[in-house]
Amino acid sequence: MGSRGYNAFTVAQEQFDRIADMMDLDAGTRAFLRDPMREYSFSIPVRMDDGNVQVFRGYRVQHNDARGPAKGGLRFHPLETLDGVRALAMWMTWKCAVADIPLGGGKGGVVCDPHNLSKREQEQISRGWVRQVVRDIGPLRDVPAPDVMTSPQHMLWMLDEYETITGARYPGAFTGKPVGMGGSLGRTEATGYGLIFTVLEALKLLDLRVEDTRAAVQGFGSVGQAAIELYTELGGTVVAVACWNQKDQTSYTYRRESGVDLAQLRSITDRYGDIDKDKAADAGYEVLPGDAWLAQEAEILIPAALENQITADNASSVPAAVRLIAEGANGPTTPEAADSLQGRGITIIPDILGNAGGVTTSYFEQVQSNMNYFWTKEEVIGRLRVKMTEAFLAVADLAERKKLSLRDAAMAIAVDRVARASQDRGWV
Ligand code: NAD
Repeated sequence: MGSRGYNAFTVAQEQFDRIADMMDLDAGTRAFLRDPMREYSFSIPVRMDDGNVQVFRGYRVQHNDARGPAKGGLRFHPLETLDGVRALAMWMTWKCAVADIPLGGGKGGVVCDPHNLSKREQEQISRGWVRQVVRDIGPLRDVPAPDVMTSPQHMLWMLDEYETITGARYPGAFTGKPVGMGGSLGRTEATGYGLIFTVLEALKLLDLRVEDTRAAVQGFGSVGQAAIELYTELGGTVVAVACWNQKDQTSYTYRRESGVDLAQLRSITDRYGDIDKDKAADAGYEVLPGDAWLAQEAEILIPAALENQITADNASSVPAAVRLIAEGANGPTTPEAADSLQGRGITIIPDILGNAGGVTTSYFEQVQSNMNYFWTKEEVIGRLRVKMTEAFLAVADLAERKKLSLRDAAMAIAVDRVARASQDRGWV
């Protein structure tokens, strides 16, 4: 998203350039991986409930599919831009590679605000999106999934449109479907749980026990809620949660030093992950400004909302108590902020590693959908834990051997795998 002059794609390309320099990547491979392979930008006309036609802008970007069909979420967001989608697609390529799943990277979205759209209008946007890219997606080409402000219901409308047009059943064409309609058990929890599996490994390296830690979390949607669920089950204390407030058009931090009550917070949160401010205040939460979450006395910060949240402007507010930042969101820490925080000895679990649990379980969903045989939740979460732990240990091992940050190590593993696949195919 292109707010406040920030361009996520520039950041993604800078991150890539750094690693390409470090790896001494040849010029052809570098030029190829630096930009998406394919991009689609299109209009989605929708007849609104009031009878007028409104035209929405839709995108799909396939950054690289050398290792397998492209995979990546779809966002419905008013600030979505093509550059934002490009960045997210590139991050998906690296994420699938670092998690070592046989998929490439893609991402898409529609510029719209579901807060202001009826269910029928959202269905028309979902179906309209599919009609524009039906020839370019599919279980063997590119498999979309939910992301910010899209849900299993949106995926099911999209799958239905895809199957109606193609005339057959392709349950592996979309993931994040409702359970019972081709969805995987455990998918809702996957990204947050996966993040916490990497946090557990990082805490071992930092010689900290989870029970002795506190966390502050930004974002109370799919990722934030699941991360809080597992982290608190394991004995951690969440002292603050920040999220958006649609009415006031700003974000707030809800603080409770003794630890937030997840079930109670969930009961006053809408389907977009926005907590009701007045009810939170009534329940005894201290209501603080939106960016106060990162200034809380806590050992762990979990940004799980949007990109560009920890920046050069606010990184100095991060207190000395913080030892670990676990990136649940994509691109929440700008490169300058990451440098200064790592310079202070703070470990950052980078997004492409930390939130890879989502796409890993989407991959599991695709496998189950293609077999038409579904696993138990324990089986899904068990396999997820193995994948996340293996990916973390491989990254931590390279970081230790080459004296790199976890982000640089994760990027180096990912870029190497994607570069090799592109070269072995004879593309570059
Ligand atoms: P979501 O829509 O379920 O929740 C988003 C949360 O962020 C909500 O609590 C909302 O109130 C909050 N928020 C929005 N704008 C904010 C702002 N300006 N300041 C503070 N809070 C704000 O989204 P999600 O699926 O939980 O995704 C969150 C992040 O994780 C995104 O960056 C997404 O790309 C990334 N991610 C999600 C998944 C997944 O499986 N859902 C997988 C990988 C990465």
